[in-house]
Formats: sequence, C-alpha cells, structure tokens
Amino acid sequence: MTKTNAVELVVVPCLQDNYAFLIHDATTGDTALIDAPDAPPIQAELDARGWTLTDILITHHHWDHVDGLEALRGDARVIGAKADMHRLPNLDIAVDEGDMIEVCGQRTHIFDVSGHTIGHIAFHMPEAGFVFTADSLMALGCGRLFEGTPAQMWDSMQKLRSLPEDTLVCSGHEYTMANARFAASLDPENPDLILRIKETEAARAAGQPTVPSTLTLEKRTNPYLRADLPEFKAVLGMPNASDVDVFTHVRALKDNF
Ligand code: ZN
Ligand code: FE
Repeated sequence: MTKTNAVELVVVPCLQDNYAFLIHDATTGDTALIDAPDAPPIQAELDARGWTLTDILITHHHWDHVDGLEALRGDARVIGAKADMHRLPNLDIAVDEGDMIEVCGQRTHIFDVSGHTIGHIAFHMPEAGFVFTADSLMALGCGRLFEGTPAQMWDSMQKLRSLPEDTLVCSGHEYTMANARFAASLDPENPDLILRIKETEAARAAGQPTVPSTLTLEKRTNPYLRADLPEFKAVLGMPNASDVDVFTHVRALKDNF
C-alpha cells in the first residue's frame, strides 16, 4: 500500500497470478478499480476498507481482466477503450488515446498500448505517479503478442518508457520470476538485473508481490525497453540491427524460452 498525493493504492491478487488495483481518494471517498479479474477478492478488499466503487477502468478484453466486472459494477462508471467496445462489457465512457478523464480526483491520460491485443489501453495518472499497464509493459516483461505486431508493441513500449522515471508501473500479472530467468539469459552481466533478480526472489519467498515496479528499474533491466540501446544490441550480437528487429528477436526468443 502506497500513499501518493492523497490517493491510496492497493494491490489485489486475483486468480492464479493476476493483479487488480484499487485507488481511493480519502477526501471524496471515491474508489476506482483497475481491471476486474475476479470479484470475490476485490469485494473482500472493498468490504474490509468500507469502500464503494465509483469507477471501474478496463485495460483490455481478456477474460482474466473483465470476468469479475458484472458482479462488482453496482453504480460504478465503467471506462474502457472505444476501439474494443465490441468485445468489452458495456461501457459508460469509451476512450481513445489522448483522452483525459478524471478518476478519484486524478487527471488520467489514456494511451493506446496495442500489441498484446489491439485496443489495449493504459491509464496514466501523472499527479499520483501511477501507470496501469496490465499486459503491455509488465515487471521485467511485456505481454505476449496475441494480436499486434512486434512493431506495434515496440511503439507501445516507447510511449510508456517516456513517462517520468519515478512512475509506478502497475502491471497485470506476477510473472516477474519467469521474466527474470529469461532476462538473465540475454543480459547476464547487467548489475541492475542481477540485483533485481535477488530482490525478486526474496520478495516471492516472503509471499510479497513484485508489482508495482518503478519505471526507472524497468528501463535499466527490462529487455523489452532496451531494444534501442547499443550496449544491449551488442550483448545480443546484433550491433547493426534496427531497434524493431532487436525487439522482434527478443520477443520471439521469449516465446520459445
Ligand atoms: Zn491479457
Ligand atoms: Fe492477462
């Protein structure tokens, strides 16, 4: 649990390895949910805190991000991508890249981060310093390319990478240890990665989530954010390859890892 600019952030583990997020504005009592993998653990967290949902933000249409929605909806305002309306639960507000909405008193900017799916969006709250990325940028990883091209995902990675360094990346799954094994296979000498893996092992051994993570740490360690760095191209043996070719290669290696 973190307090930033009077908005409280709560990470809610759901299903096998999903994360939902609650944010709460103590001044107004507003509470927003980001993604709804499964209603019971989210409802239990709301009940324990005496909170009622005013907003539900959906990142993409996959069942493990929306299946709990109808049981939680109540009077909450449901917000999701216009591009994905045809396969999302009913939306009260349909948004596009570049839109700005207010959620829990926070200006919330919409980014299209297609790649995992077409129409996947991220929600950035600059004052609180949160970005909700679900299955686009993940802790030490990025989502598998079910619908988009590597070039689309690389473009999405660059958008997210340009946010302020201290942004907390609130991503959708606890995949960090598996991602770490892959990242280490590519970049075994990276001291930031070596340290991060030790910290990840310790957190998981203690039963703690490794999400959210800071964008600073992702930029230093996440292979999918590093496809344009000469030192990373060199360790991959691709010094003259284009950025998107390096990204494509890394994503393909992970799919067969
Ligand atoms: Zn997904
Ligand atoms: Fe997912």
